[in-house]
Amino acid sequence: MRKRISREIRLKSRPDGIPTQHNFEIAEVTLPETAENELLVKNLYMSVDPYMRGRMMDRKSYVPPFQIGQPLEGGSVGEVVESKNDKFKPGDIVLNMLGWREYFVSNGKGLTRINPGEGPVQAYLGTLGMPGMTAYFGLLEIGKPNEGETVFVSAASGAVGSIVSQIAKIKGCRVVGSAGSDEKVAWLKEVAGVDEAFNYKTVNNLFKTVGELCPNGIDVYYENVGGQHLEAALEHMNTYGRLVMCGMISQYNATRPPVGPTNLGHMISKQLKMEGFIVARFSNKMAQFQTDMGKWIAEGRIKWKETVLEGIDKAPEAFMGLFRGDNFGKMVVKL
Ligand code: NDP
Repeated sequence: MRKRISREIRLKSRPDGIPTQHNFEIAEVTLPETAENELLVKNLYMSVDPYMRGRMMDRKSYVPPFQIGQPLEGGSVGEVVESKNDKFKPGDIVLNMLGWREYFVSNGKGLTRINPGEGPVQAYLGTLGMPGMTAYFGLLEIGKPNEGETVFVSAASGAVGSIVSQIAKIKGCRVVGSAGSDEKVAWLKEVAGVDEAFNYKTVNNLFKTVGELCPNGIDVYYENVGGQHLEAALEHMNTYGRLVMCGMISQYNATRPPVGPTNLGHMISKQLKMEGFIVARFSNKMAQFQTDMGKWIAEGRIKWKETVLEGIDKAPEAFMGLFRGDNFGKMVVKL
């Protein structure tokens, strides 16, 4: 019998600050034969996501921490290559949470069969998957934008931000996005169709730029970054504005407690509403998301970018790249 080898990425040590290659190790494992009711999946694409940084810390959160010496986990799309399970057959494409490895044996639990058609399979890790849902529900259920209002989005060219920006346009809003390169800014304006975008790394004064590009103030701030972006948004929020607290990537590698925001007092004087959320809260409304997103994609109203690195050994680099802005749109690894 031929041995079946799969490579996987394990957490070697917990990062202190910015993760490095030393925090990861690659290992080979021999897979067991599939038993009755089991199937063998070959992962095709795996996702790297900012939230995984939180799971590398040994602390209580909404998901348990990764364990040292154990393979990492995360969203992945794979193909069933062998099945002794009635519910799956070879060739089926399945969404799973066992990324960071090339193959795995499963009893089918936690696997969702997807019907590729609306986009390439890896889009189920981005626009058609968790980041797309995050954008859709965060903006519509928490931000509740009205036609004609101004929506300001940070990390606007990323997996979540790029979709937030375009849904806000579909809803008739004026959209202003912030991103970390001129190329990303150009894409936001020329392809995603936002009204204004700027490179936060090269502007002289973030507060002033946000004020100038939002002359009527901000009604909805979609927060992906934290720090100065949040302070700038608070400064220019309109009365009864909503702050959608989705992520704060600028603080994920902080080695000491971050400072600020120093102007939280605006919450009171402007009667603002700030609400955090985890996308899983909306999983019972997945069908609504799929219907709307499918329609918008078919109508050509939603576009997306992706950055693809190839090979399981590139997964740590792909993950670390998220914190340097190496990705343009959704970062995935082709296995
Ligand atoms: P992205 O595709 O946006 O990738 C991360 C981007 O963040 C980078 O490309 C970079 O873009 C930007 N960035 C990195 N470091 C900094 C920094 N120090 N300051 C400013 N910008 C920075 O990731 P996602 O779309 O997957 O995630 C976006 C946010 O949404 C994250 O904060 C994430 O944690 C959060 N999230 C929350 C979820 C929830 O359920 N609440 C679910 C999914 C994501 P640039 O070049 O523009 O700097």
